[in-house]
Amino acid sequence: MKKIEYTIVKSNIKHTYIQIKNGEVIVKAPKKMSNKNIKEIVEKQRSWIDKKLKEEKKMQLELITPITQEETQYLKKIVEKSIEKYSKNIGEKPNKVTIKKMKYAWGSCTSKRNIAINIMLAKKPKELIEYVVLHEICHLKYMNHSKNFWNLVNENMENYKEYRKRLKMV
Ligand SMILES: [Zn+2]
Repeated sequence: MKKIEYTIVKSNIKHTYIQIKNGEVIVKAPKKMSNKNIKEIVEKQRSWIDKKLKEEKKMQLELITPITQEETQYLKKIVEKSIEKYSKNIGEKPNKVTIKKMKYAWGSCTSKRNIAINIMLAKKPKELIEYVVLHEICHLKYMNHSKNFWNLVNENMENYKEYRKRLKMV
């Protein structure tokens, strides 16, 4: 098996944490913990670490690949159509819809009823874009992730759980 490279940072903490940052594995451990012990913990988390490293790489790659005008048009069209469709079905209309660069989410919805859609969705298939739009429109009705919220999502999209997984969003 491949050796896992990691940096150990010891401090006055009670538990051990593993962090992945810019392709680096950082292990934060209590002062008195031995390096052998730390190694064991890291080995146990091997599959999680590999997965996280891969995810991070993919995300970075996506961020540096420019979005073409065609892709932007494709996204705009799907967003417009799904806003229309789901606003009608749910009976809630957003004030404003913006497509923009977002670092930490695929979409957002403010209390002022403004919806923002992440431009990176331009590289995703139609169903995932529709899911993000639906998700944000449902927030116009429920500003939380309550049971009612998910029920409403489910009523409008049977496969939403699969899409959610593919996007890794809440
Ligand atoms: Zn949400």
